[in-house]
Amino acid sequence: MPRSSRRRTVPDPRTTTLATRAIHGRKLYPHQSPVATPIVQTSTYRFRDSGDAIRYANGDPDVYVYSRYHNPTVQEAEERLALMMDADRALVFSSGMAAITSTLLAAARSGDSIISTPGLYGGTYRFFRDLLPRHGVGVRYVRPDRLDALPQMITPRTRAVYFETPTNPSLGIVDIAELVRQVRKAPGGRRVLLIADNTFATVLNQNPLRLGADVLLESATKYLGGHSDVIAGVAAGPAPFMREVHTQQKYLGGCTDPFAAFLLVRSLQTFELRVARQNENAMELARFLETHPAVTRVLYPGLPSHPGHDIARRQMAGAGGRGYGGMVTIEVRGGARAAVRVCDALRVAVNAMSLGGVETLVSIPVYSSHVRMSARELKRQDVTPGMIRISVGIEGIADLRLDFEQALAGLGRHRGGIS
Ligand code: PLP
Repeated sequence: MPRSSRRRTVPDPRTTTLATRAIHGRKLYPHQSPVATPIVQTSTYRFRDSGDAIRYANGDPDVYVYSRYHNPTVQEAEERLALMMDADRALVFSSGMAAITSTLLAAARSGDSIISTPGLYGGTYRFFRDLLPRHGVGVRYVRPDRLDALPQMITPRTRAVYFETPTNPSLGIVDIAELVRQVRKAPGGRRVLLIADNTFATVLNQNPLRLGADVLLESATKYLGGHSDVIAGVAAGPAPFMREVHTQQKYLGGCTDPFAAFLLVRSLQTFELRVARQNENAMELARFLETHPAVTRVLYPGLPSHPGHDIARRQMAGAGGRGYGGMVTIEVRGGARAAVRVCDALRVAVNAMSLGGVETLVSIPVYSSHVRMSARELKRQDVTPGMIRISVGIEGIADLRLDFEQALAGLGRHRGGIS
C-alpha cells in the first residue's frame, strides 16, 4: 500500500467531545510523531538564514523567534484549551493573576472604567482596589441581585464588565445570561467586554462564552493543572481581542515556561475524569455537612438550600455542564478559632492554600485569600471568620466523610470554650 493512502482522515475537533479534544487536541491520528507532547525547552530559535528574521520583522506570525513571544509546547496547551473552551484563541500565562491583569490592561486604559460584581478572588480584588486606579482605570461594583442597575452604570468610557461565578470563597452565583442581557441593552453596551473568571466552575461545568460572555479566564493552577504542581493561567476569547492581550503578555512578561505548559497538557488529558469525580464527591460531602450540628452554613450551588441554586442549575448542570464543581464552603459554630481547630484536626484533607488538585485542601479565607481586608470589605464579599473553604479532591468519599466527622466532633468537645 502506498504510504500516503495509509493516512487516516482527521475528524474535525469541533465535532468531538470535550474529553477527546483535551486528550488529542488537533493531533488525532498523527503520523510518526511522539504521543506525549515534547518539551521545547529553549529561549530562542535558530533561523535557517536571515530571511526568517526579515519575515518576522515584516510581521509573519509563523516565524519562531523568542519563547516570551511563542513556544511550541505552550502553543499545544493553548490550542487544546481553545478547543475545550470553544474560543477562537487561548493564551497560557505564568499564573492566573497574569492572565487577569494582562486581559484587563488590554481592555482598559487611563480614563476608562470597568464594572465588577463584588464577590472576587482576593488577588483580583486587590488589583482592582490598589493597582488599576494607579493606571487611571476606575472600578465600580454592581450587586449580583441588582444587575438591573447595569444599564445606568455604563458610560462611554466603560470598557468591561468583570465577574466571577461561583465566587471565591462564598460560592455566590451571578446570573450570566441576565448580566449579558442588561449590559447589551445599555446604550453603547455592545462594545463593553464581558469578562468571566471561570476558575471555580471550570469549563466542564459552565462555559460563559456560550452564554454570551466575550472572554473566559481561569487560573490553570487549579482544576486545569489539577495536581498542585504547576502555576499557570489562561485567557480565551475572540481573535482580535486576544491579539491585544498577547501584546500585553509580551510587554508585561507573563508568559509561561515550556515545562509548565507540558505539565498542563499532561493534566488536560485527565481533566474530565478528575472534575467529574470532584463534582460527585463535593455533592456528597456537602449533603453530609449540611446535616452536621457543628456546621451553621453549607454553601454549595448544587444544594437546593443554596440561594443561587436555581440560577446555578440553569447555567451549570442544566446548560450542558456536568455538575456544580468541587468547591464547598462551610461555616462552623465558634468563628475563626473553631475553623482553625477543624482544619488542624483533619487527617486526610490537607491544610493548604489553593484549590482544584486531586487531594482535598482546606483553607480559612480570612487567613488566606481574604487576609487583611476590612470588616466592610469582608461583608461585601460575604466572607465570615468561621468559614472553611474546602476544595474537594478525588479521594474515596467514605474517607472524606469520616475525616470531617472526626474533625468536627473535636469541635463539640470544646464547645463553650470557643468564641
Ligand atoms: N481566580 C480565582 C477564582 C482564584 O481562586 C485564583 C487563585 O486562587 C486566581 C484567579 C489567581 O490564580 P493564580 O494563583 O494562578 O495566579
